[in-house]
Amino acid sequence: MAVRRAPAVTDRDLWAQYPFLPGAEALIAEYSPSLGELLDAPAYARARELGRIRVRAAADDPTGTAALGELDRADPDLRFLSFMYARLLLSVASTSAPGRRWAVAEARRAADRLESVADRQPEEFVGVSRLLGFPAASTPGGYEFSLPDFLRLAAGLREPEFRLVHQRLARGLVEVSTDRAARLLQEGIRVRLTTSLPAEIGPEVRNRLEALEAEFLRDLAQRVPLPAQRRGVMVLRAEYFPPCIRKMRRMLEGGENLAHSGRFALAAFLHRVGASFDTIVDSYRGAPDFDESISRYQIEHITQRDGGRGYDPPTCETLRSQGFCFREGDPTASRAEDRARDPRCFDPSLVRPTQYYRLKGGAAVERPAAEAAAGAPPPAATRPRSDGPG
Ligand code: SF4
Repeated sequence: MAVRRAPAVTDRDLWAQYPFLPGAEALIAEYSPSLGELLDAPAYARARELGRIRVRAAADDPTGTAALGELDRADPDLRFLSFMYARLLLSVASTSAPGRRWAVAEARRAADRLESVADRQPEEFVGVSRLLGFPAASTPGGYEFSLPDFLRLAAGLREPEFRLVHQRLARGLVEVSTDRAARLLQEGIRVRLTTSLPAEIGPEVRNRLEALEAEFLRDLAQRVPLPAQRRGVMVLRAEYFPPCIRKMRRMLEGGENLAHSGRFALAAFLHRVGASFDTIVDSYRGAPDFDESISRYQIEHITQRDGGRGYDPPTCETLRSQGFCFREGDPTASRAEDRARDPRCFDPSLVRPTQYYRLKGGAAVERPAAEAAAGAPPPAATRPRSDGPG
């Protein structure tokens, strides 16, 4: 594997472009604003404003596709300090949701840059990959990673083109095209950023930051509200789930692909019957194309509608037309209960799977009468690269 030189640690432009790389913190001493100065000294007002812009842009567009002209035009010192300030802000945010969105957006921005320089400045691509801990080498067709690194990076990606069976593998190396190499590093960056939060901040700095940024933090909480707002504690009774939902869960647990409409129905149902946000995310972990960041984003979208009540699960009629109704039984199931016809599903008053859950004794979350009658998948325009939680 031809290894090119790593970028010089003193390269300010590089650290400004990739401020999450290990070693970047060493620049803080060089820039030398103490944490206190960064928090409220007039000289750093612009860095703070750019930091807020980074966080706000990610909250509104977690796909990270929106251009941040002000950031692009800022000098390297300002870019770097704004990143540091954004990280501080996210570390005192009331929930981890804005931080997850920020990680996705920042990783996407960095990957776009990597992809744009990959052909004309491969040493930058290679250097960043090495510092991230996934050393790549340029090849005539793109870049190559060691097999273990490829598997680690691709583990969280749902796109089918990243499955090992679709890769060119030789001498323990996996060769991928430039855009796929950038996508792989994007995932490595996302994980690195996600796990870097919250930053370690002393109580004095925390209190000061919370006071100084109270208004911004309130606004942020409204932009990224809690995924599920519940009245009281709900007890989830999986044994009361209807045949359609049981089938969807079996499919995911067995590593089968579940169509987008099924993924939407499952998330909407679980939310309505009181499942926590993480429980819903966990339901998709078995999907062959599971991507945690995309799943979390999409489940947030499904469950946050109407102040946290979420979308209505589809009706039984809709599920039947989509091939998800298993009231006649699922002949492929291993349990006799799943293979059998379910008489409750033939009750003429049954309109939605949540009613089945209630009929069996589960306590579904109350739905206000004014809420829309029909469930609908989230608008495609709001979805990141692929659709449906998974
Ligand atoms: S009748 Fe309704 S609740 Fe029962 S399996 Fe079909 S879709 Fe699900």
